[in-house]
Amino acid sequence: MTGKRQDLLNMLCDLSDLSALVTGSENIENFLQRTVVLVSEHLGTPVCSIYLHDETADELVLKATVGLNPEAVDRVRMGPGQGLVGTVMASRKPVCEGRASKNPRFRYFPETDELPYESFLAVPIQKGVVKIGVLVVQHTEPDYFETTDVTALKATGAQLAAVLENARLLMDLQRMCRIPERPVCNLGFIKGQRVSGGFARGRATVWGKSHAQLVAGSRESEGGTMADFRRATARTADQLDVLQQRCAERLPESASLIFAAHFMMLKDPKFIDSMAAKIEAGLPATRAVREVAGKYIDLFADSPHPYIREKVGDIEDLAGRLLGNLAPPSTDDSQDSTGRVVVARALYPSELLKLSAESVAGIVLANGGVTAHVAIVARSLKIPMVVVQCPELLHLPPDTLVLVDGEVGNVYVDPSADIVDRFDARNRARQQVAARPTSMPAGTARTTDGTAVDLLANINLLGELPLARRMGAAGIGLYRTEFPFLIRPSFPSETEQYLVYRKVVSAMGDRPVVFRTLDLGGEKTLAYSDAAKEANPELGLRSIRFTLAYRDIFEQQLRAILRAAAGRESLGIMFPLISSPDDFLRARQVLNDCMDRLEAEGLDHHDHPAIGMMVELPAVVETMAEFAALADFFAIGTNDFVQYMLGVDRGNKRVADYYRPEHPAVLRALERVVRIAGAHDKPISICGEMGHDTAMIPFLLGIGIRRLSLDPQFMPGVNQCIAGLEINRCRNHALEMMAAGSIAGVQKCLAGF
Ligand code: PEP
Ligand code: MG
Repeated sequence: MTGKRQDLLNMLCDLSDLSALVTGSENIENFLQRTVVLVSEHLGTPVCSIYLHDETADELVLKATVGLNPEAVDRVRMGPGQGLVGTVMASRKPVCEGRASKNPRFRYFPETDELPYESFLAVPIQKGVVKIGVLVVQHTEPDYFETTDVTALKATGAQLAAVLENARLLMDLQRMCRIPERPVCNLGFIKGQRVSGGFARGRATVWGKSHAQLVAGSRESEGGTMADFRRATARTADQLDVLQQRCAERLPESASLIFAAHFMMLKDPKFIDSMAAKIEAGLPATRAVREVAGKYIDLFADSPHPYIREKVGDIEDLAGRLLGNLAPPSTDDSQDSTGRVVVARALYPSELLKLSAESVAGIVLANGGVTAHVAIVARSLKIPMVVVQCPELLHLPPDTLVLVDGEVGNVYVDPSADIVDRFDARNRARQQVAARPTSMPAGTARTTDGTAVDLLANINLLGELPLARRMGAAGIGLYRTEFPFLIRPSFPSETEQYLVYRKVVSAMGDRPVVFRTLDLGGEKTLAYSDAAKEANPELGLRSIRFTLAYRDIFEQQLRAILRAAAGRESLGIMFPLISSPDDFLRARQVLNDCMDRLEAEGLDHHDHPAIGMMVELPAVVETMAEFAALADFFAIGTNDFVQYMLGVDRGNKRVADYYRPEHPAVLRALERVVRIAGAHDKPISICGEMGHDTAMIPFLLGIGIRRLSLDPQFMPGVNQCIAGLEINRCRNHALEMMAAGSIAGVQKCLAGF
């Protein structure tokens, strides 16, 4: 089997082949069957089976097999820990047995007509913390499988996880539901907050509500024959194909399978065939689509699992597209958001990506809040976005004209012709300014006395790399690796991460790059994770605590980073939210273990990364000397450092006045941290937003900071600011600021500088 291994890996690493497997199958059962046939052919094993996890019963169910009795499909079930297959699921670890029948956990299922297949190899299929199922291969010859086969099957399971997750979900559906109508209200001008710049003018689509209305439907719009339905299905598949390609172009790290759930549903007999059956029984096609979609929405919406509830949007979206393609061309009943202003209560980054693929004009978030990550994705995708505290907007009649001024945060609902004219004029003026060329700075700024300050880039998305290069960034001081996780519909596999990270390192040539390991939790929540809700997420299982708890996820990421940086001179890896030297040592041990394993597997990787940490917690200040003996470098995350020093939620507008970077305690602690790092000759940078605050830069230089990592768009302003500073004056200014005993006192120093 080993000889086939590379072949199999090559095939599965190519996501387009995986897409082809999905799109080329007639239904989900057929897709699963084709998958087991393909794996067994490539691995040369007489048996290959897929078991999927049934959430409700907490059981594994045999869903497809070659080699076992096909009648056993759907009949063989086992609980976690039962038999060898159940053991794999419960332990989340592969099981490789040379003589399976001798293992005390071995269990024989008579329905399978199983021959004495002595060699047994099974791997768990999981997406992050979500259990999806188990992939099994068997062979009659004892001791047939080798360690390399375990690795190959693990990689196969990882690549299949996303599509199998959708397949499993779609196999679980029953109940009926209807979505209630909501009242309507009138609105004029709304003052909000800008999230992402630019102007948008378009007809409104209320996200969620329009879906519900669409699925609930109206008598007048009913119609469509079986032929119309078939045409609409084919057209929908074509449109999804185009959207998928656009997603991949705009945000390559989103992966091309962002519409995998849609494709799966289009293949699902319980979905499509039951619509067809209703049409055959005499219902108009639109009614049939609405009724079946309604059942699915109800079932998914009732699920206790967030990643299943998250699929409601996918079903609404797909039903809307089908209905749009069933409607006569003149009526605009489609789900497409092209050129529209979408009004939503809240959005996940992955939803934003879908809207961007449809060329949405602008977005209004009506519930007063937005996570920093949605804001960053919106800016990166150049979608004008405003957040308002006005839930009434969610009841806006469809097609109302809305203007979004993302420059100042204004929203105009059903504006007069005069307002529209003025809005258009401002938009034209802005476009002219944006078209003017700007002079580009270098990545090293110099004070008047010649002191050099390196300017590195903070990068969240691959799309920001060209700007970092254009601005001449000296390297990447902070690559926030959680973004590919946030904008995708499910956990990326090691290979998917590797492909993204590879683009990051190759874009920067030989300039230094620092990867920060996954910083999830707090406000960075995943739509698809069912990690437990916490009362205080900022103080909970966040960041390094999450990755240390889910070691699989941590290891996959570290392996992907190390492999992506193979052959490079320098690589920095840093851990976020470290609170004790013990945390740091545990994290470093995982990293060292990963390097050892990559070495043993003979995979190319970087084997001498600089290992650093973020300074974000007050606990680090007191133990800085111990950390300085352990870590190779430091990056101060002032966004969190201020939050935790002062006990103020950085995202809570109600306490925004208490969030004071200029608090004397913050300033003195920063000085102490920088001084101790310097005494140990350990590089230290600022990578929070304080790093581009030109009022605070003289203080930072005054306490010895010589490296700033910032959003590349701020580099020209920061470069100019530093060019006007003199280092001795900055030192005196910093001393004066630290001597001030109150926020007001510090502010006086700032004003007098
Ligand atoms: C910070 O806390 O300052 C930081 C850079 O990390 P993030 O903003 O991603 O939490
Ligand atoms: Mg932080």
